[in-house]
Amino acid sequence: MNYDQILLRYGEIGLKGKNRKIFTNRLHENVVQKLRKYPDIKVKTTRDRIYIFLNGHDPEPIMQECTEIFGIQSLSLAIQVDNDPESIKEAALFALKDADDAKTFKISTKRINKEFPIGSQEFNHVLGGHLLSNTEGYTVDVHNPDIEIHVDIRQQETYLTSKRIWAAGGLPVGSAGKTLLLLSGGIDSPVAGFMTMKRGVQLEAIHFHSPPYTSERAKQKVIDLAERLTNYGSKIKIHVVPFTKLQQKIHREIPNGYSMTVMRRMMMRISEQVAKQNGILSLTTGESLGQVASQTMESMNAINAVTSYPILRPLIAMDKDEIIEISQKVNLYDISIRPYEDCCTIFVPKSPKTKPKADKVAYYESQVDFAADLQEAIDGIEVIEVDPSSRKDEFEDLL
Ligand code: ATP
Ligand code: MG
Repeated sequence: MNYDQILLRYGEIGLKGKNRKIFTNRLHENVVQKLRKYPDIKVKTTRDRIYIFLNGHDPEPIMQECTEIFGIQSLSLAIQVDNDPESIKEAALFALKDADDAKTFKISTKRINKEFPIGSQEFNHVLGGHLLSNTEGYTVDVHNPDIEIHVDIRQQETYLTSKRIWAAGGLPVGSAGKTLLLLSGGIDSPVAGFMTMKRGVQLEAIHFHSPPYTSERAKQKVIDLAERLTNYGSKIKIHVVPFTKLQQKIHREIPNGYSMTVMRRMMMRISEQVAKQNGILSLTTGESLGQVASQTMESMNAINAVTSYPILRPLIAMDKDEIIEISQKVNLYDISIRPYEDCCTIFVPKSPKTKPKADKVAYYESQVDFAADLQEAIDGIEVIEVDPSSRKDEFEDLL
């Protein structure tokens, strides 16, 4: 006997009413996509759970991957047996012996199938007695057991699970449309991307690149960050905007204190265009209120004034150390702290206005003709598609 499947429990999807199927179908597809490198597994999705039949695969790496799929709240290894007391006893004994360090245990039976001849409480005692008389050194502890064996007697079959592993929660990526993430290569914007994905949003990314002031390695950093983010969803298209000429012109033509605000407004204008061209209905940034000069209330007002597009700011109320904690936990941090220059740090004046006035910014901009430069930047966009599965195939071809 062995654990032969992984049971995935839904989080918030469980609260959905009529639309539930849309979410479970999407989650099913995401699970299948993520696990397609394990050829023998089978994924079965039901109203309230997903089962992964292992067919001989090692469960450990598969469980690890499942913790990264949004829409899943928790998962457990499971054994499936027939609804007959003897088979269940045998499976419970296996589960207990398999839990290495356990000395105390508890059985929790849930009987959905009322035709099963023994009630839940009574069956807890039957199973407990069976385990005690077939092992040595174990005791029952109903308050604080080392291992709790769940026996779930359903209509057709029974599932036994013990350890519960927490997964990413949230909603299945793709169930809430798409956003265009302004991805800088810093710490904040990748975390903002992660958090929007958590609410079921699929990402495209836009990055403003200013060669030769920013290097190829700075661009590679953004590609690597996007690739890490694909762990939590599907492939990501990155729109890389050549931003040098615009930045130079801003630097030359706009009074120093206002150049950063104007540069941000250009980013917004270009991002909105790209989003529209790609049927994307919102932008996302890594802004956090008051963190730097461009993120004061006045700055956000002046920057936001050039677009009527919704801008998602999932980090707006978070402290830097909270953002860093997430960045580390979800494996983005080591890339984010690579020391390459960002286009903004190079052109940012020593003392940008922390309280720019929207009408003043508009006035300074109106004195310069940026239209052709904006168009040139949009026309020069390079699209890079980050798809970890295809990269793996290329790699395999080389072997
Ligand atoms: P981050 O850590 O994400 O770089 P930050 O704290 O450094 O953020 P800013 O540099 O002021 O803050 O940038 C604010 C937001 O503007 C970023 O979170 C990102 O969404 C966007 N942004 C900044 N620079 C770029 C860039 N070169 N390309 C794309 N988006 C950018
Ligand atoms: Mg930055």
